[in-house]
Amino acid sequence: MDGHHSEAGARAQLRRLLALARDNEEKLQRFNEQELQLIATTSLHEVLARIVLDFPAAFALEHVSLALADPRQELPQLLEACDLPPHIAQQVLLLDAERLEALGLARRTPLLECFGPRYAPLFPSHPPPVSVALLPLWRGDECIGSLNFGSADPKRYTPDSRTDFLARLAAVVAICIENGANHERVRLLSFTDPLTGASNRRYLDQRLAEAVACAARTASPLACMFLDVDHFKRFNDTYGHAAGDTVLREAARRMRAELRRSDVLCRYGGEEFVALLPGADGERAKEIAERIRAAIGDVPFMLEDGRAVSITLSAGVAVQVPNDSDEAAAARLLHAADQAVYAAKAAGRNRVVRD
Ligand code: GH3
Ligand code: MG
Ligand code: MG
Repeated sequence: MDGHHSEAGARAQLRRLLALARDNEEKLQRFNEQELQLIATTSLHEVLARIVLDFPAAFALEHVSLALADPRQELPQLLEACDLPPHIAQQVLLLDAERLEALGLARRTPLLECFGPRYAPLFPSHPPPVSVALLPLWRGDECIGSLNFGSADPKRYTPDSRTDFLARLAAVVAICIENGANHERVRLLSFTDPLTGASNRRYLDQRLAEAVACAARTASPLACMFLDVDHFKRFNDTYGHAAGDTVLREAARRMRAELRRSDVLCRYGGEEFVALLPGADGERAKEIAERIRAAIGDVPFMLEDGRAVSITLSAGVAVQVPNDSDEAAAARLLHAADQAVYAAKAAGRNRVVRD
Protein backbone atom coordinates (compact mmCIF):
# COMPACT_ATOMS: atom_id res chain seq x y z
CA MET A 1 0.00 0.00 0.00
CA ASP A 2 2.76 2.37 1.08
CA GLY A 3 4.89 1.35 -1.89
CA HIS A 4 1.93 2.00 -4.15
CA HIS A 5 1.52 5.44 -2.67
CA SER A 6 5.12 6.49 -3.01
CA GLU A 7 5.22 5.11 -6.55
CA ALA A 8 2.21 7.23 -7.53
CA GLY A 9 3.81 10.20 -5.80
CA ALA A 10 7.06 9.67 -7.66
CA ARG A 11 5.22 9.41 -10.96
CA ALA A 12 3.36 12.67 -10.27
CA GLN A 13 6.62 14.31 -9.29
CA LEU A 14 8.22 13.09 -12.51
CA ARG A 15 5.31 14.46 -14.54
CA ARG A 16 5.68 17.83 -12.86
CA LEU A 17 9.39 17.89 -13.54
CA LEU A 18 8.90 16.89 -17.16
CA ALA A 19 6.27 19.62 -17.62
CA LEU A 20 8.62 22.13 -16.06
CA ALA A 21 11.49 21.02 -18.29
CA ARG A 22 9.22 21.31 -21.33
CA ASP A 23 8.14 24.79 -20.28
CA ASN A 24 11.71 25.86 -19.83
CA GLU A 25 12.70 24.38 -23.15
CA GLU A 26 9.94 26.33 -24.89
CA LYS A 27 10.86 29.47 -23.04
CA LEU A 28 14.49 29.07 -23.98
CA GLN A 29 13.52 28.63 -27.62
CA ARG A 30 11.32 31.71 -27.51
CA PHE A 31 14.09 33.84 -26.02
CA ASN A 32 16.68 32.39 -28.38
CA GLU A 33 14.60 33.14 -31.42
CA GLN A 34 14.06 36.79 -30.45
CA GLU A 35 17.69 37.27 -29.49
CA LEU A 36 18.94 35.84 -32.79
CA GLN A 37 16.62 38.10 -34.77
CA LEU A 38 17.75 41.09 -32.77
CA ILE A 39 21.43 40.28 -33.26
CA ALA A 40 20.83 40.11 -37.02
CA THR A 41 19.69 43.75 -37.13
CA THR A 42 21.98 46.63 -37.96
CA SER A 43 19.97 49.83 -37.93
CA LEU A 44 18.59 51.52 -34.83
CA HIS A 45 15.20 51.71 -36.52
CA GLU A 46 15.09 47.95 -36.95
CA VAL A 47 16.29 47.21 -33.40
CA LEU A 48 13.66 49.45 -31.84
CA ALA A 49 10.92 48.19 -34.16
CA ARG A 50 11.70 44.57 -33.27
CA ILE A 51 11.63 45.26 -29.56
CA VAL A 52 8.48 47.36 -29.53
CA LEU A 53 6.51 45.45 -32.18
CA ASP A 54 7.70 41.82 -31.93
CA PHE A 55 8.29 41.33 -28.23
CA PRO A 56 4.64 41.76 -27.11
CA ALA A 57 3.49 38.84 -29.26
CA ALA A 58 6.62 36.73 -28.76
CA PHE A 59 6.45 36.96 -24.97
CA ALA A 60 2.66 37.38 -24.62
CA LEU A 61 2.93 40.83 -23.04
CA GLU A 62 0.48 43.72 -22.98
CA HIS A 63 3.26 46.30 -22.64
CA VAL A 64 6.78 46.66 -23.92
CA SER A 65 8.59 49.97 -23.61
CA LEU A 66 12.15 51.22 -23.58
CA ALA A 67 13.51 53.95 -21.36
CA LEU A 68 16.83 55.20 -22.67
CA ALA A 69 19.37 57.33 -20.85
CA ASP A 70 20.70 60.17 -22.94
CA PRO A 71 23.84 61.54 -21.25
CA ARG A 72 25.17 63.10 -24.47
CA GLN A 73 21.76 64.54 -25.35
CA GLU A 74 21.95 63.14 -28.83
CA LEU A 75 19.12 60.63 -28.84
CA PRO A 76 16.39 62.99 -30.05
CA GLN A 77 18.52 63.67 -33.11
CA LEU A 78 19.36 60.00 -33.65
CA LEU A 79 15.74 58.93 -33.21
CA GLU A 80 14.54 61.63 -35.56
CA ALA A 81 17.11 60.56 -38.13
CA CYS A 82 15.94 56.97 -37.98
CA ASP A 83 12.39 58.09 -38.71
CA LEU A 84 10.31 55.93 -36.38
CA PRO A 85 6.56 55.77 -36.93
CA PRO A 86 4.60 57.24 -33.98
CA HIS A 87 3.38 53.90 -32.62
CA ILE A 88 7.00 52.83 -32.13
CA ALA A 89 8.33 56.22 -31.06
CA GLN A 90 5.76 56.52 -28.26
CA GLN A 91 7.14 53.39 -26.61
CA VAL A 92 10.67 54.78 -26.56
CA LEU A 93 11.13 57.16 -23.65
CA LEU A 94 14.14 59.33 -22.96
CA LEU A 95 15.15 59.67 -19.33
CA ASP A 96 18.17 61.36 -17.89
CA ALA A 97 20.50 59.34 -15.67
CA GLU A 98 19.08 60.82 -12.44
CA ARG A 99 15.55 59.86 -13.44
CA LEU A 100 16.65 56.29 -14.16
CA GLU A 101 18.34 56.24 -10.76
CA ALA A 102 15.30 57.72 -9.02
CA LEU A 103 13.02 55.06 -10.50
CA GLY A 104 15.44 52.40 -9.26
CA LEU A 105 16.20 51.31 -12.81
CA ALA A 106 19.98 51.68 -12.71
CA ARG A 107 20.36 48.38 -10.86
CA ARG A 108 22.35 45.38 -11.90
CA THR A 109 19.57 42.80 -11.87
CA PRO A 110 16.02 42.71 -13.25
CA LEU A 111 13.29 44.02 -11.00
CA LEU A 112 10.11 41.93 -10.96
CA GLU A 113 7.14 43.17 -8.99
CA CYS A 114 3.58 44.40 -9.11
CA PHE A 115 2.89 47.64 -10.94
CA GLY A 116 2.92 50.82 -8.87
CA PRO A 117 2.00 54.38 -9.90
CA ARG A 118 5.65 55.41 -9.85
CA TYR A 119 6.18 53.21 -12.90
CA ALA A 120 3.33 54.88 -14.81
CA PRO A 121 5.71 57.00 -16.95
CA LEU A 122 7.32 53.77 -18.22
CA PHE A 123 4.04 52.38 -19.51
CA PRO A 124 2.38 55.04 -21.65
CA SER A 125 -0.37 52.84 -23.13
CA HIS A 126 -3.60 52.04 -21.26
CA PRO A 127 -4.71 50.31 -19.15
CA PRO A 128 -1.53 50.05 -17.08
CA PRO A 129 -0.04 46.60 -16.44
CA VAL A 130 -0.59 44.66 -13.23
CA SER A 131 2.85 43.09 -12.89
CA VAL A 132 6.08 44.36 -14.40
CA ALA A 133 9.62 43.26 -15.20
CA LEU A 134 12.07 46.15 -15.44
CA LEU A 135 15.28 45.00 -17.07
CA PRO A 136 18.25 47.33 -16.71
CA LEU A 137 20.40 47.68 -19.83
CA TRP A 138 24.13 47.89 -19.13
CA ARG A 139 27.11 48.49 -21.36
CA GLY A 140 30.22 48.17 -19.24
CA ASP A 141 29.85 50.52 -16.29
CA GLU A 142 27.10 52.56 -17.86
CA CYS A 143 23.39 51.94 -17.45
CA ILE A 144 22.02 52.92 -20.86
CA GLY A 145 18.38 52.40 -20.00
CA SER A 146 15.70 49.94 -19.09
CA LEU A 147 13.57 47.48 -21.05
CA ASN A 148 10.15 47.38 -19.50
CA PHE A 149 7.72 44.49 -19.71
CA GLY A 150 4.20 44.79 -18.36
CA SER A 151 1.62 42.05 -18.00
CA ALA A 152 -2.07 42.01 -17.10
CA ASP A 153 -1.42 38.80 -15.16
CA PRO A 154 -0.60 39.56 -11.52
CA LYS A 155 1.33 36.29 -11.20
CA ARG A 156 3.43 36.79 -14.32
CA TYR A 157 6.18 38.75 -12.58
CA THR A 158 6.71 38.32 -8.87
CA PRO A 159 9.87 38.98 -6.85
CA ASP A 160 10.60 35.24 -6.65
CA SER A 161 10.28 34.54 -10.43
CA ARG A 162 13.46 33.43 -12.12
CA THR A 163 15.34 36.17 -13.93
CA ASP A 164 18.16 34.43 -15.80
CA PHE A 165 16.42 34.39 -19.20
CA LEU A 166 15.37 38.01 -18.75
CA ALA A 167 18.86 39.09 -17.71
CA ARG A 168 20.40 37.48 -20.78
CA LEU A 169 17.78 39.07 -23.06
CA ALA A 170 18.54 42.47 -21.51
CA ALA A 171 22.26 41.98 -22.20
CA VAL A 172 21.55 41.24 -25.87
CA VAL A 173 19.14 44.18 -26.15
CA ALA A 174 21.73 46.53 -24.63
CA ILE A 175 24.39 45.48 -27.15
CA CYS A 176 21.98 45.73 -30.06
CA ILE A 177 20.78 49.19 -29.07
CA GLU A 178 24.33 50.42 -28.69
CA ASN A 179 25.24 48.91 -32.04
CA GLY A 180 22.18 50.46 -33.70
CA ALA A 181 22.95 53.87 -32.16
CA ASN A 182 26.55 53.69 -33.42
CA HIS A 183 25.30 52.74 -36.86
CA GLU A 184 22.93 55.72 -36.84
CA ARG A 185 25.67 58.10 -35.61
CA VAL A 186 27.96 57.11 -38.47
CA ARG A 187 25.16 57.35 -41.00
CA LEU A 188 24.21 60.80 -39.73
CA LEU A 189 27.83 61.99 -39.85
CA SER A 190 28.29 60.76 -43.39
CA PHE A 191 25.32 62.89 -44.47
CA THR A 192 26.14 66.04 -42.52
CA ASP A 193 28.22 69.11 -43.29
CA PRO A 194 30.46 69.58 -40.24
CA LEU A 195 30.53 73.40 -40.31
CA THR A 196 26.82 74.13 -40.47
CA GLY A 197 25.12 70.86 -39.50
CA ALA A 198 23.11 71.05 -42.74
CA SER A 199 23.01 67.98 -44.95
CA ASN A 200 25.71 67.42 -47.52
CA ARG A 201 25.42 66.79 -51.24
CA ARG A 202 25.47 63.05 -50.89
CA TYR A 203 22.31 63.29 -48.81
CA LEU A 204 20.70 65.79 -51.18
CA ASP A 205 21.38 63.55 -54.17
CA GLN A 206 19.62 60.65 -52.46
CA ARG A 207 16.68 62.66 -51.23
CA LEU A 208 16.27 64.59 -54.47
CA ALA A 209 15.94 61.38 -56.48
CA GLU A 210 13.39 60.02 -53.98
CA ALA A 211 11.46 63.30 -53.85
CA VAL A 212 11.27 63.63 -57.64
CA ALA A 213 9.96 60.08 -58.00
CA CYS A 214 7.50 60.54 -55.13
CA ALA A 215 6.19 63.85 -56.49
CA ALA A 216 5.59 62.31 -59.92
CA ARG A 217 3.93 59.23 -58.43
CA THR A 218 1.58 61.15 -56.16
CA ALA A 219 1.11 64.10 -58.52
CA SER A 220 2.15 66.47 -55.75
CA PRO A 221 4.31 69.57 -56.14
CA LEU A 222 8.02 69.72 -55.35
CA ALA A 223 10.06 72.89 -55.09
CA CYS A 224 13.78 73.40 -55.01
CA MET A 225 15.68 76.56 -54.12
CA PHE A 226 19.25 77.69 -54.45
CA LEU A 227 20.36 80.09 -51.74
CA ASP A 228 23.63 81.91 -52.32
CA VAL A 229 25.23 84.49 -50.03
CA ASP A 230 26.02 87.72 -51.87
CA HIS A 231 29.59 88.97 -52.23
CA PHE A 232 30.84 86.49 -49.70
CA LYS A 233 34.36 86.60 -51.03
CA ARG A 234 34.40 90.29 -50.20
CA PHE A 235 32.97 89.53 -46.76
CA ASN A 236 35.83 87.10 -46.05
CA ASP A 237 38.38 89.59 -47.33
CA THR A 238 36.97 92.24 -45.01
CA TYR A 239 36.26 90.30 -41.81
CA GLY A 240 38.39 87.18 -42.17
CA HIS A 241 37.60 83.55 -42.77
CA ALA A 242 36.69 82.78 -39.15
CA ALA A 243 34.03 85.50 -39.18
CA GLY A 244 32.83 84.04 -42.48
CA ASP A 245 32.45 80.63 -40.85
CA THR A 246 30.46 82.09 -37.96
CA VAL A 247 28.12 83.80 -40.41
CA LEU A 248 27.67 80.63 -42.50
CA ARG A 249 26.76 78.65 -39.40
CA GLU A 250 24.18 81.20 -38.27
CA ALA A 251 22.84 81.66 -41.81
CA ALA A 252 22.19 77.90 -42.05
CA ARG A 253 20.39 78.04 -38.70
CA ARG A 254 18.15 80.85 -39.93
CA MET A 255 17.38 78.97 -43.16
CA ARG A 256 16.51 75.83 -41.23
CA ALA A 257 14.17 77.82 -38.99
CA GLU A 258 12.04 78.82 -41.98
CA LEU A 259 11.76 75.27 -43.32
CA ARG A 260 9.67 72.30 -42.34
CA ARG A 261 11.13 69.27 -40.67
CA SER A 262 10.48 67.20 -43.79
CA ASP A 263 12.31 69.71 -46.01
CA VAL A 264 15.96 69.13 -46.83
CA LEU A 265 18.56 71.83 -46.32
CA CYS A 266 21.88 71.03 -47.92
CA ARG A 267 25.15 72.96 -47.97
CA TYR A 268 25.78 72.58 -51.65
CA GLY A 269 29.15 74.32 -51.77
CA GLY A 270 31.04 77.04 -49.87
CA GLU A 271 28.36 79.70 -49.41
CA GLU A 272 25.64 78.00 -51.45
CA PHE A 273 22.75 76.08 -49.99
CA VAL A 274 19.98 74.08 -51.61
CA ALA A 275 16.59 73.56 -50.01
CA LEU A 276 14.20 70.90 -51.17
CA LEU A 277 10.54 71.37 -50.29
CA PRO A 278 8.31 68.37 -50.98
CA GLY A 279 4.68 69.43 -51.23
CA ALA A 280 5.44 73.11 -51.87
CA ASP A 281 4.30 74.71 -55.12
CA GLY A 282 6.03 77.68 -56.75
CA GLU A 283 4.00 80.31 -54.91
CA ARG A 284 4.63 78.78 -51.53
CA ALA A 285 8.33 78.17 -52.22
CA LYS A 286 8.78 81.76 -53.34
CA GLU A 287 7.13 82.95 -50.13
CA ILE A 288 9.48 80.81 -48.04
CA ALA A 289 12.53 81.89 -50.03
CA GLU A 290 11.47 85.50 -49.42
CA ARG A 291 11.22 84.78 -45.67
CA ILE A 292 14.70 83.24 -45.70
CA ARG A 293 16.08 86.20 -47.64
CA ALA A 294 14.61 88.57 -45.05
CA ALA A 295 15.78 86.47 -42.08
CA ILE A 296 19.34 86.73 -43.40
CA GLY A 297 19.37 90.21 -44.92
CA ASP A 298 17.28 92.09 -42.34
CA VAL A 299 18.89 90.86 -39.14
CA PRO A 300 22.58 91.59 -38.44
CA PHE A 301 24.94 88.76 -37.50
CA MET A 302 26.98 88.94 -34.31
CA LEU A 303 30.65 88.10 -34.71
CA GLU A 304 32.60 86.54 -31.85
CA ASP A 305 34.36 89.84 -31.15
CA GLY A 306 30.96 91.48 -30.60
CA ARG A 307 30.74 93.30 -33.91
CA ALA A 308 27.41 93.20 -35.74
CA VAL A 309 27.69 92.67 -39.49
CA SER A 310 25.19 92.36 -42.31
CA ILE A 311 25.04 90.15 -45.37
CA THR A 312 22.46 89.57 -48.05
CA LEU A 313 21.30 86.52 -49.91
CA SER A 314 20.02 85.75 -53.39
CA ALA A 315 17.62 82.90 -54.02
CA GLY A 316 16.43 81.02 -57.08
CA VAL A 317 13.25 78.97 -56.94
CA ALA A 318 12.20 76.19 -59.32
CA VAL A 319 9.38 73.67 -59.28
CA GLN A 320 9.25 70.22 -60.72
CA VAL A 321 7.40 69.94 -63.99
CA PRO A 322 4.39 67.63 -63.40
CA ASN A 323 5.02 64.04 -64.46
CA ASP A 324 8.67 64.71 -65.14
CA SER A 325 10.37 61.83 -63.43
CA ASP A 326 12.90 60.33 -65.81
CA GLU A 327 16.53 59.88 -64.79
CA ALA A 328 17.51 63.46 -65.55
CA ALA A 329 14.50 65.14 -63.89
CA ALA A 330 16.36 65.77 -60.63
CA ALA A 331 19.28 67.36 -62.44
CA ARG A 332 16.88 69.53 -64.46
CA LEU A 333 15.14 70.77 -61.32
CA LEU A 334 18.45 71.64 -59.68
CA HIS A 335 19.68 73.33 -62.83
CA ALA A 336 16.51 75.41 -63.10
CA ALA A 337 16.96 76.66 -59.52
CA ASP A 338 20.62 77.41 -60.21
CA GLN A 339 19.67 79.42 -63.30
CA ALA A 340 17.11 81.35 -61.24
CA VAL A 341 19.67 82.31 -58.60
CA TYR A 342 21.97 83.41 -61.40
CA ALA A 343 19.19 85.69 -62.64
CA ALA A 344 18.73 87.03 -59.10
CA LYS A 345 22.44 87.94 -58.99
CA ALA A 346 22.23 89.60 -62.40
CA ALA A 347 19.19 91.60 -61.35
CA GLY A 348 21.09 93.16 -58.43
CA ARG A 349 21.27 90.46 -55.65
CA ASN A 350 19.38 90.40 -52.32
CA ARG A 351 16.28 89.08 -54.07
CA VAL A 352 14.28 85.97 -54.97
CA VAL A 353 13.73 84.91 -58.59
CA ARG A 354 11.45 82.12 -59.71
CA ASP A 355 12.34 80.22 -62.87
P1 GH3 B 1 28.18 86.41 -55.46
O1 GH3 B 1 27.41 87.50 -54.86
O2 GH3 B 1 28.25 86.49 -56.94
O3 GH3 B 1 27.69 85.06 -55.03
O4 GH3 B 1 29.68 86.57 -54.95
P2 GH3 B 1 30.48 85.67 -53.96
O5 GH3 B 1 31.72 86.38 -53.57
O6 GH3 B 1 29.61 85.26 -52.83
O7 GH3 B 1 30.77 84.38 -54.81
P3 GH3 B 1 32.09 83.61 -55.15
O8 GH3 B 1 31.64 82.27 -55.66
O9 GH3 B 1 32.97 84.44 -56.03
O10 GH3 B 1 32.84 83.42 -53.78
C1 GH3 B 1 32.35 82.59 -52.76
C2 GH3 B 1 33.23 82.78 -51.58
O11 GH3 B 1 32.76 82.03 -50.46
C3 GH3 B 1 34.63 82.33 -51.81
C4 GH3 B 1 35.10 81.87 -50.47
O12 GH3 B 1 35.98 82.79 -49.90
C5 GH3 B 1 33.85 81.82 -49.60
N1 GH3 B 1 33.72 80.56 -48.91
C6 GH3 B 1 33.47 79.36 -49.46
N2 GH3 B 1 33.45 78.41 -48.51
C7 GH3 B 1 33.69 79.02 -47.34
C8 GH3 B 1 33.80 78.57 -45.97
O13 GH3 B 1 33.65 77.38 -45.65
N3 GH3 B 1 34.07 79.49 -45.04
C9 GH3 B 1 34.24 80.79 -45.36
N4 GH3 B 1 34.49 81.65 -44.39
N5 GH3 B 1 34.14 81.25 -46.62
C10 GH3 B 1 33.88 80.38 -47.59
MG1 MG C 1 27.92 83.99 -53.32
MG1 MG D 1 28.34 80.90 -54.88
